[in-house]
Amino acid sequence: MWQQRRDVQFSPQGIFKALQHNATHDEIAPALFSCLLCGACDLLCPENIDITGMITTHRKEAFLQGSNAALKEKIESQLVPPTSEIKREENTMVLAGEALRATPATLKRILTLLSGETNATLAIDDGDDIALALEAGVEVSDHRLHAFLEPLQGAKRLYISNGHLLKQLRHWLPATELFAIGHSLSQLDTLTRKLKKSDLYLIETRAYHLDHQQKVTHYDQLRHQQGCHINLDLQRNAIPTAGGGLNALQPQLDCAEQGRWLLSGRNVQRIIVECAEDGRAMSQLSALPVLHIADLMER
Ligand code: SF4
Repeated sequence: MWQQRRDVQFSPQGIFKALQHNATHDEIAPALFSCLLCGACDLLCPENIDITGMITTHRKEAFLQGSNAALKEKIESQLVPPTSEIKREENTMVLAGEALRATPATLKRILTLLSGETNATLAIDDGDDIALALEAGVEVSDHRLHAFLEPLQGAKRLYISNGHLLKQLRHWLPATELFAIGHSLSQLDTLTRKLKKSDLYLIETRAYHLDHQQKVTHYDQLRHQQGCHINLDLQRNAIPTAGGGLNALQPQLDCAEQGRWLLSGRNVQRIIVECAEDGRAMSQLSALPVLHIADLMER
């Protein structure tokens, strides 16, 4: 947000200072709804303040005060009506999300790669509507939430494409093993040994920043071993493409500018993504081949 606007109002510091000085939620709405919830600022805060959590709380407040009514309505209209037929899922489930479902060949590879002793199967309900509503700060009915969560209660292990949904699921399903799809694939040597020095590897930012301490060493080793470029800055924060979630529905930040930033100064020949939305965003701005990490299985 700061990188694109260069305006302190469009930063967590600016948002919270404005609130301390009695700004209304309507006045801060442009900045509040521009944040990508990438999570890079959470891990930099010396007081461990949940900045992204506070931003979503204030988005809720902004809606309550009547800001962005059209956006609220748009997101509410996308919430799936709950069905009465609920079947518990079992074993290993994959919550792929709409963008991955749009690339069935990649999705098939992911299911094969993530199948352990038990076959990994696709969840019937990915909860895309819930992820978007939570990101925006729109209320989700208990009925809809129950219809989404109840089938997942029987699963031992869940693989999730959306990093923001992963964060929420940790609260909702504390006894279930939860993994980010991209990070899980990045641990498979059969895939990562195919990464080249001339590749730009894009980490899915939300899941990465959620577990930065555990994951930073893993990705540093990957860069060291393969020599590939990675979307990490000098502080080891991952730079987002802005291609998914709320910004895809109502763009506040420019994906093309993010893409140019990611590519600047790098001499690369392929872009490898963990997240299908990032793949979509990079394909739109670059003529370079863009592959999901799972697609390296066939290379
Ligand atoms: S979550 Fe990302 S986009 Fe939002 S304020 Fe923090 S670093 Fe900026």
